[in-house]
Amino acid sequence: MSAPVFKHTFDHAGYKGTVEVPVGLYIDGKWVNSVDKNAKTIPVVNPSTGEKLLDLPEGLEADVELAITAARKAFNEVWGLNTPGFKRGEVLIKVAELMERDADILASLEALDNGKTFGAAKGFDAAEAAACFRYYAGWADKVHGKVIEQSNDKLTFTRHEPVGVCGQIIPWNFPLLMFAWKLAPALASGCTIVIKPSELTPLTACYMTKILKEAGIPDGVVNVVNGYGPTVGNALSGSNTIDKVAFTGSTAVGRKVMESAAKSNLKKVTLELGGKGANIIFDDCNLDDAVRYAAQGIFFNHGQTCCAGSRIYVQRGIYDEFVKKFVQVTKKVQVGDPFAPDTFQGPQVSQTQYDRIMNYVECGKQEGANVITGGVRHGKTGFFIEPTVFTNVKPGMKIVEEEIFGPVVVVAVFDTEDEVIAAANDSIYGLASGVFSQNITKAHRVAARLHAGTVWVNCYNELHSQVPFGGFKSSGIGRELGEYAMENYTEIKAVHVRLTGYVGPVPPL
Ligand code: NAD
Repeated sequence: MSAPVFKHTFDHAGYKGTVEVPVGLYIDGKWVNSVDKNAKTIPVVNPSTGEKLLDLPEGLEADVELAITAARKAFNEVWGLNTPGFKRGEVLIKVAELMERDADILASLEALDNGKTFGAAKGFDAAEAAACFRYYAGWADKVHGKVIEQSNDKLTFTRHEPVGVCGQIIPWNFPLLMFAWKLAPALASGCTIVIKPSELTPLTACYMTKILKEAGIPDGVVNVVNGYGPTVGNALSGSNTIDKVAFTGSTAVGRKVMESAAKSNLKKVTLELGGKGANIIFDDCNLDDAVRYAAQGIFFNHGQTCCAGSRIYVQRGIYDEFVKKFVQVTKKVQVGDPFAPDTFQGPQVSQTQYDRIMNYVECGKQEGANVITGGVRHGKTGFFIEPTVFTNVKPGMKIVEEEIFGPVVVVAVFDTEDEVIAAANDSIYGLASGVFSQNITKAHRVAARLHAGTVWVNCYNELHSQVPFGGFKSSGIGRELGEYAMENYTEIKAVHVRLTGYVGPVPPL
């Protein structure tokens, strides 16, 4: 039985047309079904309606094994050190060009199974994902070591070699962008890949297999195995033949990935995990800018952003005015159909996420916090939630400490710089923070004292391929993006070459 194709006709302001997406497993350049007779299908739901979109063929452990074998062969024979860096770069440029050609399709698919707005999916996700491939195309021929000694006696140098076969596991909140963040630096470094998209949002990854093939990525270099975490994901992190696993997702699953990596072949691990971003608004800020950035900081991508500014700390002098304006902006956030041009916030990704977020809202109320806007379902179908603002919050409340991953924010008041830094750093997470102040000395001082992998000063959620991204503390291990991501995918080999004869303590022959 040949692998199925999902066909969908779009008819919205941004794109009209029928798109065909191969939704089988993509192994060794072919779209196939699972080799395991026990494999079933996974229902993929449209979050805007709650209705099933398609039955996604499931992969299982045996498929992961086949994908790893294909990736190993491609690494040994085609990619890796067999293709010069500039050639790898050329192919990555081609991938970026094809993504730009198909940006409307990619953005439509992303809006369909994830629920993010078409506008954001095109202007941010698809654009940044293509930019990421372009950026790493430039790195592909700049992977080189150092000459460390070049005396008359000796030459010592380092080679930066691709790590090998990489397992990559990605979440549902930025399905296309995470696919690009994972693939681009790995391919630029010469690695080959078995990637598992989220079972909730497989469509753009599946469509990308067509683009990768058209761009000329050789068969076996990238393999896509759809499936569930405990089967496909665990087979990747627990494999004895994969050289590295890169994971983006929740801290709880990140811990499992690290555990099974440690229990198997001790493969290299990078983790991009959860967050609980503190956004600090000093009373000497530009208030209107701070209000708008604070709203974008939490409501962008419906709050389903690991770096979301989900804790807002406002200095007492401007607290009342900030809250008044923040509520005004929040009430103007347009919630609704992701394909309508004026929508800012679509549905949450799934019933499970919807329930989880609404449980946090209930919990916040029970803990004594005040909901000053939102806190309820939007509409009658789908997984829409009104943007929600809590005040009267205290340290120790679940809504202050835990990652809600939805359009729910807590706003607290503070008096001094020391007090707010202590509050901001009082978290198991350390992914991102914001600082708003017109006093540049203070802004720098505070940025330096925050325990976070990213600090935004007078802005929020700015992400660029050139700039590293990742977390302190339980927010992760390692950095993605920038030149730092190249290090994740290369091994350093020191080569000592003696140019004279034998030197050492052993007597002459
Ligand atoms: P998740 O941890 O539930 O799932 C992430 C991926 O892991 C999915 O593909 C899932 O199928 C897979 N998985 C599940 N169980 C597994 C297992 N036992 N072994 C291996 N893989 C398994 O996360 P999610 O709900 O998809 O995404 C939301 C989380 O991701 C949030 O916590 C968010 O903060 C985090 N995130 C972090 C970043 C970052 O860069 N730090 C970026 C995006 C999302």
